[in-house]
Amino acid sequence: MTATIIDIRREPEAALKQAEAVLSDGFPVALPTETVYGLAADATNPAAIARIYETKGRPRFNPLICHMADLAMAERYASFDALSRRLAETFWPGPLTLILPLKPDSGIHPLATAGLDTVGVRVPAGFASELIRQFDRPLAAPSANTSGKVSPTSARHVVEDLGEKLTLILDNGAAPVGVESTILRVEDGQIRLLRPGGISAEAIEAATGQPVIRPQGPTAIIEAPGMLASHYAPGAAVRLNATEVEAGEALITFGAAPIKGAEHAVAVFDLSPTGDLAEAAANLFDYLKRADATGAARIAVASVPQTDLGEAINDRLTRAAAPRE
Ligand code: AMP
Ligand code: MG
Repeated sequence: MTATIIDIRREPEAALKQAEAVLSDGFPVALPTETVYGLAADATNPAAIARIYETKGRPRFNPLICHMADLAMAERYASFDALSRRLAETFWPGPLTLILPLKPDSGIHPLATAGLDTVGVRVPAGFASELIRQFDRPLAAPSANTSGKVSPTSARHVVEDLGEKLTLILDNGAAPVGVESTILRVEDGQIRLLRPGGISAEAIEAATGQPVIRPQGPTAIIEAPGMLASHYAPGAAVRLNATEVEAGEALITFGAAPIKGAEHAVAVFDLSPTGDLAEAAANLFDYLKRADATGAARIAVASVPQTDLGEAINDRLTRAAAPRE
């Protein structure tokens, strides 16, 4: 099987129609969202969800985010407390996922939530929400990559990884945000950060006037298994906070900070020459893949500030550098 690729920018009607047909048949579709490319399937259809896990080689105990057309649709499936609703009103459509109690008989299949009594919901921007509105069912969608590998930010990335396993890949150019959604859970009126992502903790704090509570230590982040282990990993080893290049390394830099021996690197990729964290996030996964494709044994990565989107960037880099299973 080789996937059909449709460019949404050229054929929006055909993209919508074919995607709906594939989803109705119970198969996943690779599609662009503002964060990364997703592998989306009908969240109410167990066979369709099973195909997501199978295609990605993803463990079934790792729940999927369910994507909605808008807040009104999300309220049909999940119960919103006042603060979660305010967060949704402020940041949707956008890269924010909220963990909420699942409504009884919501129709979302337990395979999508890994049997939990909560569900991760988000409203994506653009084409994806249009498709969901038309399909009128939530789409369960993790990133469209083999589990544990670097997430795709272009249709080409999806073709290279999963092209043989899919029937339909939709292309909308480079994903503008470039890292996955921020995952929050409101408990007892407190906002807990489960995963940093495309909306910064600073932006959430500014919008709510409340602190965002970070997990205490690395183990607290594991709401679901698979969050901590090696993830987002290229084939090459990854070395963080590099201040110099060692023999045989490719280099990923950020901004103007000088790196010793950069001229000897197998290749150099600058996440953002001007030191812009949003630009760096958008380039991160593509540059990790490109650095990997040079064949270098190791990728050295210069330090990235831990503020704003830097928190999500450093989270992904730390997982990319984690010991492999
Ligand atoms: P991914 O689809 O790879 O971006 O990962 C989605 C992540 O969302 C999972 O690894 C979980 O950590 C998190 N998630 C999804 N649903 C839930 C839930 N009901 N409770 C806690 N975390 C969740
Ligand atoms: Mg993923």
